[in-house]
Amino acid sequence: MPVYEFECPNGEITERLEKMDVEEIVCPQCHQIAKKIMSCCTFELKGGGWYADGYASRKK
Ligand SMILES: [Zn+2]
Repeated sequence: MPVYEFECPNGEITERLEKMDVEEIVCPQCHQIAKKIMSCCTFELKGGGWYADGYASRKK
């Protein structure tokens, strides 16, 4: 089974094992919709700075 990564609006990453090709899940931490991340390179398309800041600073 493939492992998919999902990112919510708070920049939290959730890894899930999914049988089917789901596009989004509910973030277990903030309960908002987390969208699937297609690949490691997706971060750069969205802006590396935004991702790095969001992920690092919101881990409280
Ligand atoms: Zn979240």
